[in-house]
Amino acid sequence: MSFEEYEFETRAVRAGQQRTAEGEHAEAIFPTSSYVFGSAAEAAARFSGESPGNIYSRFTNPTVRTFEQRLASLEGGESCVATSSGMAAILATCAGLLKSGDHIVSSRSIFGTTTVLFSTYMARFGIETTFVPQADIAAWKRAVRPQTRLFFLETPSNPLTELADIEALAALAHASNALLAVDNCFCTPALQQPLALGADIVIHSATKYLDGQGRCIGGAVVGDAEKVGKEVYGFLRTAGPSMSPFNAWVFLKGLETLSLRMRAHCDGALALATWLEQQPAVARVYYPGLASHPQHELAQRQQSGFGGVLSFELRGGRQRAWNFIDATRIFSITANLGDTKSTITHPATTTHGRLTPEQRNESGISDGLLRISVGLESVHDLRTDLVRGLAAAER
Ligand SMILES: *Cc1c(COP(=O)(O)O)cnc(C)c1O
Repeated sequence: MSFEEYEFETRAVRAGQQRTAEGEHAEAIFPTSSYVFGSAAEAAARFSGESPGNIYSRFTNPTVRTFEQRLASLEGGESCVATSSGMAAILATCAGLLKSGDHIVSSRSIFGTTTVLFSTYMARFGIETTFVPQADIAAWKRAVRPQTRLFFLETPSNPLTELADIEALAALAHASNALLAVDNCFCTPALQQPLALGADIVIHSATKYLDGQGRCIGGAVVGDAEKVGKEVYGFLRTAGPSMSPFNAWVFLKGLETLSLRMRAHCDGALALATWLEQQPAVARVYYPGLASHPQHELAQRQQSGFGGVLSFELRGGRQRAWNFIDATRIFSITANLGDTKSTITHPATTTHGRLTPEQRNESGISDGLLRISVGLESVHDLRTDLVRGLAAAER
């Protein structure tokens, strides 16, 4: 059954499901490693690809397929490949689409582990990466080489919520004979659909908002039938960083409430960002929903909501920031995000602690910077918690 004529919320609940003969209402979990064929001839036809169907759960599992079809529908892509983690999705994209000698141009404001994957591991296989400032289109242009095959970015960025203009960078990538891959972890398709803006590949850490309740690790790659359905899938099938059917089922349930949750995350983040901006102890708030955000207009054009993550800079240095964190009682002290539970982190000494002070300075990660991922608790209670933090920072 095709759901393409329906709106986002309907597809998020319904797309991809095929009921079994049992008539189950909720999606079934298929914890099976292999599948039985009716005859030797049928087995041969499945293996040769002559007849479609399940073979082995490294690359064909009905629960995983339901998740893939549902996410493909929400992102507006032809194909989706589910992976064991967000990092496995990025690895599968690179390994499936690039070869030794190719070149990547990447935003420098990407997930720290992605930076390591590119600059250490991809480099070992002869794939070089040039890192550029996210919002500086001229810098992207200057970084292009004849060997450039991939542009890579996250928007909004973590933790400073800097945006990349997807439409402009897709045009530049295509003019340079390269593909544009967007890590859509922060917005999810509920707030931003990069393929519709010209991107070729969408990458997810399903671990974050797609699950939304901090339970499972997983990832996904979405794009067209050739690049994703064939090349990235071919790598997954061969190398095996596959999603488990249990995790796929949890992510399916997550997708069903994605739209509602994202709206609530956005409302909470905007309320707290607006309030924080009025506090004398706060030097600056980074949130795309604020009129003071330098790319507020782009955010309004490119996203249908501003997301659940914000950062702010406390006056004073590291000790004040740590005192703030330690005084909160509701916020969890963890670097994870995209959970019903709000989290708080000090990027300079955690997620960005491996950078040199100069690198941190260059990327704007000051010692007074705090990042929060706004969960689904009462905004009133969260604000009270931040008041505790501000009082402790003042001491
Ligand atoms: C967490 C994260 C990843 C990596 O995902 P895992 O599921 O932890 O492997 C990639 N990109 C972004 C933006 C993330 O936040």
